[in-house]
Amino acid sequence: MPKELKPCPFCDDDSASVKSETVSLGCASEEIWYVRCGHCKARTNDTTTRIDAIDDWNRRDPLPSPSPVADRLAEAAKKAVGWLRACDHMDEFDSMATELDSALADYEKGKKGETK
Ligand SMILES: [Zn+2]
Repeated sequence: MPKELKPCPFCDDDSASVKSETVSLGCASEEIWYVRCGHCKARTNDTTTRIDAIDDWNRRDPLPSPSPVADRLAEAAKKAVGWLRACDHMDEFDSMATELDSALADYEKGKKGETK
């Protein structure tokens, strides 16, 4: 029974597949299994069975919450908006500020779990 592979924990792509290779160990050889993302090439460690490889892939922790990083980006973006607005004689700066502002607003909404 093939077990279903979860999406990649790194890039969320669902193109992961189970691979096997035969590796030689001196005079012996061993079959190893692993799961690899077809998009970002993230892969599990080698395991000795197909099921272990799949379990390994599916068990991996989800991505850490991006919030601390996103919060820092948001802070930096807020400052950037201030500077951009201070130079409003340039149309490019103004449209950049507007874009950042709207992204920030969406981010704040997302953090509060609000949905439209
Ligand atoms: Zn991936």
